[in-house]
Amino acid sequence: MNADEILSSEDFKRCVDFHGHICPGLAIGYRAAKAGLECLDESRAVDEEIVAIVENDACGVDAVQVLTGCTFGKGNFIYKDHGKQVFTFLGRKSGKGVRVAKKPDANKRSEKQQDLFKKIREETAGEEERKTFWEMHHQRSRQVLDKPIQELFSIRFVDITLPPKAMIEPSVVCEECGEPAMASRLTEKNGRKMCGDCLTE
Ligand SMILES: [Zn+2]
Ligand SMILES: [Zn+2]
Repeated sequence: MNADEILSSEDFKRCVDFHGHICPGLAIGYRAAKAGLECLDESRAVDEEIVAIVENDACGVDAVQVLTGCTFGKGNFIYKDHGKQVFTFLGRKSGKGVRVAKKPDANKRSEKQQDLFKKIREETAGEEERKTFWEMHHQRSRQVLDKPIQELFSIRFVDITLPPKAMIEPSVVCEECGEPAMASRLTEKNGRKMCGDCLTE
């Protein structure tokens, strides 16, 4: 699919709806998730069939959640704060894992766009400059969607032990605030079982 086809596809629209805007980061996440699912030969996870491990918390991970069905709330979406555009997908059924890592030059900002970005951050950009920045931004999103996958990512199969499925455990009432919390998250202090909120107060 080329950029136009992707931009008008239902899958991409769902990503944009969830994320709020079109940007190069979202496009990277879209391409990474599609590549990962294709390698694993899986479609979207209804339950916890697929696990995604992401190494950043930027725009792209929203597309990963939408396309793979690995979400923060289901416990099959694992975030490692490494500040890297690396996405690993694991299939529970097949036991296969694939690591998708962005290449250094995959979607670099030009010097001009970098300057404009700085001005926008410092709130010194004029109307025209803002417009130019967003045009370049959109152009870069299109480039990411159009590029051959091997120009964007290094992709390889990996052997990773799957993390256990999400734990469901009964709640216990905190003896300080009286609110229920997962039993394993309570800590005993001065002979009383306390929740995280009460311990830090
Ligand atoms: Zn974004
Ligand atoms: Zn408490």
